[in-house]
Amino acid sequence: MKLKIETFMQEVRARNSHEPEFLQAVQEVAETVIPYIASKEIYNGKNILLRMVEPERAISFRVPWINDSGEICVNRGYRIQMNSAIGPYKGGLRFHPSVNMSILKFLAFEQVFKNSLTTLPMGGGKGGADFDPKGKSDGEIMRFCHSFMGELCRHIGPNTDVPAGDIGVGSREIGFLFGMYRKIRNEFTGVLTGKGLSWGGSVIRPEATGYGTVYFASNMLATKKDTIKGKIISISGSGNVAQYAAEKANQLGAKVVTLSDSSGFIYDSDGIDSDKLAFVMKLKNEERGRIDAYIKAYPNATFHANETPWNIPCDIALPCATQNELDDVAAENLLKNGCICVCEGANMPTTPKAIALFHKAEILFAPGKASNAGGVATSGLEMTQNSLRYHWSRKEVDEKLQEIMENIHSACITYGTNENGYVDYVKGANIAGFVKVADAMIAQGVV
Ligand code: NDP
Repeated sequence: MKLKIETFMQEVRARNSHEPEFLQAVQEVAETVIPYIASKEIYNGKNILLRMVEPERAISFRVPWINDSGEICVNRGYRIQMNSAIGPYKGGLRFHPSVNMSILKFLAFEQVFKNSLTTLPMGGGKGGADFDPKGKSDGEIMRFCHSFMGELCRHIGPNTDVPAGDIGVGSREIGFLFGMYRKIRNEFTGVLTGKGLSWGGSVIRPEATGYGTVYFASNMLATKKDTIKGKIISISGSGNVAQYAAEKANQLGAKVVTLSDSSGFIYDSDGIDSDKLAFVMKLKNEERGRIDAYIKAYPNATFHANETPWNIPCDIALPCATQNELDDVAAENLLKNGCICVCEGANMPTTPKAIALFHKAEILFAPGKASNAGGVATSGLEMTQNSLRYHWSRKEVDEKLQEIMENIHSACITYGTNENGYVDYVKGANIAGFVKVADAMIAQGVV
């Protein structure tokens, strides 16, 4: 089996040699899915995984825009349309200086499995630009978004490809993007998700990724007859996912003690309660400030520059910032301090070595493609409401979100339970996500 996986990876490496994040995501899937493929006659001779690692389409385009000083700037925009076997491409847009083909292909590849896991009819895609929104004025952000959509609008549509937000793309950016799409195409359709409530958005969409991650952690703890209540939780990031993971954790009676951004993390041993979280939300979403401002408002807390929060003792860790932010050293610290559950809110935040340590220690570990799927699932619910031209209530959407997270958890148990009873959620999520897409591709022939 090792040889089969290595032969497959050699071919993928030869084609994508300068794409480390993409290769990392593919390797993780290959290790768990290739043994499954080998055990099923239906996949014999179909080269199905090799077809899945090749994007159906990868678009790269120029995004020229004018800054507040009147200078002409140029960024590079992308959309990776990875797989549409089970529905229109769906996945977020990321605006961050680190954005490149490798990062977007890893995200698009993971998105295919994640969207399949939600059981909703959505294919996988991802896009964005190497644009840094930090320090830009609202006018600059608007001009950039308008220029970006000037090209992207040719490639997307409510039945073709439906982007959403991701790092650096929140409700403000979705508004500017939607406005330009509507103007150019002269149509009001559900072409983006994460829209404002008065123009086609769904309740709970902003909260969904963070809430869903905590619902998933609750499902994992339930397998040990345990709950979130009373647990100490360490969260990284302080953006959309981190904020609402913290909110739901507080609601369920846990104590959140850390948040971070790319400058470092804050530790508040008294807990980041709802009032303190409201302060963080205002700081991050309205004032667009840095996380160290927290310790000026709450002097009992401490700020740790250029560090991640994983050396702080906690029961549960929720990495909610970015890829590869939790490495093997961090994993050792978490395990040493008694952490029992790591549930990814971000995409691929845990390095392969760190995952191996969690698996060896047999603690609960959930990969983002399962545990953060609540965001895209609720985007799927937004698409349904747009098609129906109808709005569901907060209670209805939240119930559907909880049900979807429970179903994803059950699918992971079905495909991921090892002989000794330990649940390998990575294996479970990869195989469960794979089956639906692979079967659809086989039914549709070699296209
Ligand atoms: P936001 O832009 O709202 O927040 C991102 C947070 O992560 C910020 O606090 C940011 O700090 C921090 N961060 C970003 N890059 C780095 C870095 N290189 N090192 C340290 N910290 C960093 O993004 P989201 O909350 O939407 O996304 C967070 C993660 O969740 C991403 O991995 C994303 O792909 C994933 N995700 C998001 C979904 C969504 O619905 N939004 C859905 C599913 C997954 P700073 O401000 O300093 O950059």
